[in-house]
Amino acid sequence: MLSLRNKRIWVAGHQGLVGQALVRALPATGASVLTVPRFALDMREQQAVRHWLRQNNPDVAIIAAATVGGIGDNQARPADFIYDNMMIAANIMHESAHIGLEKLLFLGSSCIYPRDAMQPIGPESLLSGPLEPSNEAYAVAKIAGIKMAQSYARQYGCRFISAMPCNLYGPGDRFDMKRSHVIPALMMKMDVARRQRQSALEVWGTGTPLREFLHVDDLAAALILLLQTHEGTEPVNVGSGQEISIADLATLIAEITGYEGDIRFSPAYPDGTPRKILDSAVMRGLGWRPEIDLRRGLMQTYDWFLQNKASAAEDHYVA
Ligand code: GDP
Repeated sequence: MLSLRNKRIWVAGHQGLVGQALVRALPATGASVLTVPRFALDMREQQAVRHWLRQNNPDVAIIAAATVGGIGDNQARPADFIYDNMMIAANIMHESAHIGLEKLLFLGSSCIYPRDAMQPIGPESLLSGPLEPSNEAYAVAKIAGIKMAQSYARQYGCRFISAMPCNLYGPGDRFDMKRSHVIPALMMKMDVARRQRQSALEVWGTGTPLREFLHVDDLAAALILLLQTHEGTEPVNVGSGQEISIADLATLIAEITGYEGDIRFSPAYPDGTPRKILDSAVMRGLGWRPEIDLRRGLMQTYDWFLQNKASAAEDHYVA
């Protein structure tokens, strides 16, 4: 058990979806949160990361910094996704090992698992088959991060743990019709379509893929519990256990946004992986349960979007 009281916790990526949720949740543990704005530290630069860590000397670090995006963005910018994410993970872990940090939590994603993994997906599936091509570059960078955490734990005894969340959503996400993940993209498309009284809009793919969504505040609670109670280098899956098809998700978002036109599926766009539900037995064993159901979480996220349209559409190159 690691008490976080009075610990100085660096949330790397505090402006992203997960980072913002951590900044909201961590103060209740008695920890003090360290952040550094993106313009002041480029985490892809090793010297800059070394300097910042030595100057600030946190007790704990959470790597929530990443270049992230939806299926369209992953396909358009594979070089950015592989380079940025490998550099961020390598620099922070390597330099953290040298300042004797107490504990580090690395965040990955369910796309690290093979496209045809057995469902629900357990950590033993890692590297057991080919990846989904649409986000392979991102997945390889995240797999490298897990392997780095394991290697630093083995060689140097570092307490580096890894968590793999399912698809996330919530306030603070990036809302962009082309680059975002499906929930913010559809919220934005439907919001615009309703206001412009469009009679139809396009949803990418066939509508048949299944996705498991988790509200980012539920994830933040899980991550804090992991920091406090979990040791071990095997990645820990964090999922809601609830699946929904993209077609049903689109109907639900239409209801929430008040969009009444047609929903047309466009198979010219990729579906991505057909299904990826996580086996989150380790988290359940620790007593964690998600508290925000999808409908309520989507309503809250849409309210946030309506009140924060300007910042929600900002370009985040590193979340
Ligand atoms: P993924 O889980 O890595 O595939 O992430 P996404 O959130 O980008 O996409 C999830 C699913 O939603 C995929 O099957 C997409 O084809 C589908 N989808 C439908 N419409 C959209 C859209 O406007 N944007 C995105 N990103 N995905 C969409």
